[in-house]
Amino acid sequence: DSEKLSGMIEEMGYTRTENIEEADLIVFNTCCVRENAEDKLFGKLGEVKKIKEKRGTIIAIGGCMMQEEHIVEKLQKSYPFFDIVFGTHTLHKFPQDLYNIILNKKRIKDIINIDGEIVEGLPIKRDDKIKASVTIMYGCNNFCSYCIVPYVRGRERSRKAEDILKEVQELADKGYKEIILIAQDTTKYGTDIYGEPKLAELLNKLSKIENIKWIRFLYAYPETIDDELIKEVKENEKVCKYFDIPIQHISNKVLKRMNRQSDGESIRKLIKKLRDQIPNVIIRTTVMVGFPGETEEDFNELYKFIEEARFDKLGCFSYSKEDGTPAARLKEQIHPMTKKSRYNKIMKLQKMISKENLKEKIGKKIEVLIEGETFDHEYYLGRSYMDVPEIDGVVYLKEKENEPLQIGDFVTCKVVDVNEYDLICE
Ligand code: SF4
Repeated sequence: DSEKLSGMIEEMGYTRTENIEEADLIVFNTCCVRENAEDKLFGKLGEVKKIKEKRGTIIAIGGCMMQEEHIVEKLQKSYPFFDIVFGTHTLHKFPQDLYNIILNKKRIKDIINIDGEIVEGLPIKRDDKIKASVTIMYGCNNFCSYCIVPYVRGRERSRKAEDILKEVQELADKGYKEIILIAQDTTKYGTDIYGEPKLAELLNKLSKIENIKWIRFLYAYPETIDDELIKEVKENEKVCKYFDIPIQHISNKVLKRMNRQSDGESIRKLIKKLRDQIPNVIIRTTVMVGFPGETEEDFNELYKFIEEARFDKLGCFSYSKEDGTPAARLKEQIHPMTKKSRYNKIMKLQKMISKENLKEKIGKKIEVLIEGETFDHEYYLGRSYMDVPEIDGVVYLKEKENEPLQIGDFVTCKVVDVNEYDLICE
């Protein structure tokens, strides 16, 4: 969304400045599921108030936080100097809103609560030249009890496969090498449109596009990962052998209260199946500790499962109350100290597992995409199929004197050492 906003704003003639003091327009694109998102936004607004007063800078605030009524009310009451607020379903209208504010100087609130149409062909300004995220579906139907996303981003709406293929073809023509398909739950792709391909078929079609080397998809809901998808990941050379499956918990009692569709048994079976069927598969997961009512016994079950499952990568969250979600009304909220201690225990365990898993790679050969170099120019920096931009580790690659590498090169190299989350290669 931020890349689309940048693209639209640039087409209107604006250029980016690194100096906020000289900005004519400041746009905040908010996300309500980020930790401390509200505090961060209100803090930043406090900072830009002076700039607004000094040079009449237009202040626009968008994103899924604006779909929450209490936030917009607070903005109107405590930060009345903003010019535009827009929601997730009206992002494509931003140029029109901006134009209106320039002409009429009257504050605009452009928020609707019905699912927005899918608008194709918006200009996108991508910061990266090698990898690109491509949205394949909007919204979510899962209604996990702790999550605000279905309320602020609406129901599942898949993009047409032909539009996705066109976008990826254009990216390939521009030299992009890695495509990351994104949706709240990619495994549901195509299920809302009769006759559209499902995720496995979409991956297959995309892999026929020349020059695209790696394709990934984030995230995969455990209950809807089917055999067809597993087969496609296994057999398609271009699809990274990488699953990011947020399981959230393993205790049936907790999963039920979270309104998750999977139970402990089906999660265990799925992880085993993936490991059995796809050699060298990397599995990342996300778990949540301290969900209301999580007992010591539930937590121990989760801890033991993580010990056994040996995920390659794992993100852990402490439950935090999100206004407007069913879980926020649950009694038996867990004490913050208990949450913190459970979080620390999981992270300590996973750190050890991740390192041990990485150590198994020493001596093996892996393919690495070169993305840059360290500040001291001693190492190239890259990623293997095991690492996702901004989520996982990096590969440090020592240069061979007579073989200089370029950003965007794929090289096969040997793992010689590991540090906490990263590989050192030659
Ligand atoms: Fe939220 Fe993900 Fe559950 Fe959808 S699947 S409701 S986005 S946690």
